[in-house]
Amino acid sequence: MSLPEYVTFGSYRAKITLEPALTGVHGLYSFESSPEITISKWGDKESAAILLHETIHFMSDCMGLGLNEAATRRLEFALSVLLKDNSDLMLHILAALSTSPHRNQSNDTDSDTGTDPAATPAPDRGDGSARHGIRSDR
Ligand SMILES: [Zn+2]
Repeated sequence: MSLPEYVTFGSYRAKITLEPALTGVHGLYSFESSPEITISKWGDKESAAILLHETIHFMSDCMGLGLNEAATRRLEFALSVLLKDNSDLMLHILAALSTSPHRNQSNDTDSDTGTDPAATPAPDRGDGSARHGIRSDR
C-alpha cells in the first residue's frame, strides 16, 4: 500500500511526507504554515503506528484537545489494538459512518446537527507553530 498524500480531519488537511533522513525521531507533526506529517519510513507495522501517532497529534491540534506526548502514545496504542482486534467491527462502523454526516461534538448529547467535528478553528498556539516528534527510542 502506498503512502497516502494527505490525511483529512473535517475541514483540515495535513500533507504526509516521507523523509528517510529524519534524525532523532521517526515521525513529526508540525503546523507552521499548514499542517504537515513527516515520517521516516513506510510499509511496515511500526511505520503505520508512527503515522497513526502523528495523526492523533494532528487531530488534537485541530480540536484543541491539548493531548501531551504521553496521552498521545496511550491513545495510539489503544487505537492500534482496537483497529487490529476488531477489523470487522471497524468495517461496519466505517460503512455506517460513510452514509451519515458527522455528529456534532457539542455538550448537547442529543443534538445531531450534522456539523463537522473539526469545524472549530485550530487553537492559537501563540507563536503560530507546533511541533511534535516520536523519539527514536520507541
Ligand atoms: Zn508524539
